[in-house]
Amino acid sequence: MRYRVTGEIRDVVNCFCSQCRKTSGHHFAATRCRRDQFELIERETLGWYRSSGKARRGFCNRCGSSLFWEPDDLDTISITAGTLDAPTGLKTVRNIYLEDMSDYHDIPVLSANE
Ligand SMILES: [Zn+2]
Repeated sequence: MRYRVTGEIRDVVNCFCSQCRKTSGHHFAATRCRRDQFELIERETLGWYRSSGKARRGFCNRCGSSLFWEPDDLDTISITAGTLDAPTGLKTVRNIYLEDMSDYHDIPVLSANE
C-alpha cells in the first residue's frame, strides 16, 4: 500500500471520538488533503470499511495499518499522520472530541501557539 499527496496538506488534528479511539487504539492523528491531490500508487492491500453513515475508513489488509478517513460529502481525505514519510513539516494544531476520550487519558498538551 503506497499513496502520494501532490498538493497542500493540513497540519495534524488529533481526534478523540470513540470511533477514532477504537480504530486507532488511542487517538487518530490525521492530516488532510484534497481528494483530487491524493493518489494511490499501490492499492493491492488497501481495504475499506464503512465506519458510519457518512464516511469510510481505509486500512492495509496485510499489516492492519490504519490509513484514511474519507467522508462522503466532502472532497477531502484524512490521512493518518504517522504513515507519512518524515520529515513531514507538519505541526499538531488541534484536539477534537476531547469529551469522548477514555478515562486513562490525561488531557493532551499542545504547544503554546495552538
Ligand atoms: Zn474521530
